[in-house]
Amino acid sequence: MEHYRVKPEKEIHLKDYETNESSAFDGKKKDGKKRLLELNEELETLQELLYAEGKHKLLVVLQGMDAAGKDGTVRHVFEGVNPQGVRVSSFKVPTAEELAHDYLWRIHKQTPRSGEIVIFNRSHYEDVLVVRVKNLVPEKVWKKRYAQIREFEKMLVEEGTTILKFFLHIGKEEQKARFQARLDDPTKHWKFNPDDLKVRAFWEDYQQAYEDLLNKTSTEEAPWYIIPADKKWYRNLLIAETLVKTLKSFQMQYPANSVDPSTIHIE
Ligand code: ADP
Repeated sequence: MEHYRVKPEKEIHLKDYETNESSAFDGKKKDGKKRLLELNEELETLQELLYAEGKHKLLVVLQGMDAAGKDGTVRHVFEGVNPQGVRVSSFKVPTAEELAHDYLWRIHKQTPRSGEIVIFNRSHYEDVLVVRVKNLVPEKVWKKRYAQIREFEKMLVEEGTTILKFFLHIGKEEQKARFQARLDDPTKHWKFNPDDLKVRAFWEDYQQAYEDLLNKTSTEEAPWYIIPADKKWYRNLLIAETLVKTLKSFQMQYPANSVDPSTIHIE
């Protein structure tokens, strides 16, 4: 995974990152899928421990172009985890009330509590993406947000949250194929939104906005990972591996109980 982490000291160019490779796994798709099942089980156990111990907070940020696989990641990576203790927060076009506040207001309210994993499906990064590309606020306003976001995330980390950020990097051709599948498959029609084509027309602007945010907001304490996302199985595998590794690093333990079980007799 180190290979995919955006190091704060080195400027990256998105063009150098392939979207359809799977080089960190030496196996085929079916081996990758098998490995994911093992990781799902590990994740299930680790999440239960996280919940029981109630000390750590984990925030997972998912960003990517439309059809990059944000929903699919949630479905496949977290398959089997206990919904108690895992929450998905999706950020849509802000409501009037949200717009009447600063852009981090709605975000902060959704951050994880102790023992909880929260997945952000879109996030505060929309405020330097769509907001920038569509000129929703002046440049001098969104430009300041990179530093504000770094500070905000730093505060969360200092207060005990672990943050992992994944950019699901798909190719333009792959997006086209996925949109087409949504048109062709009646069970996927509901996912097709004609507005997505308007966004697609600004592909290069979005890639530039992503490149900038990856360079400006990947920090040691809250790193970004660029996930090649054309192959769904590989995307799931990389994210699941990173989550398992991170949760293991917490070295969690089930909380001790002051009751000595041998002294209890249940009639
Ligand atoms: P999905 O996340 O499944 O694509 P929608 O189709 O409802 O869900 O899309 C959510 C939309 O909300 C996206 O177009 C996204 O760019 C937009 N959005 C999210 N956050 C903001 C924001 N802060 N300002 C403006 N638009 C936003």
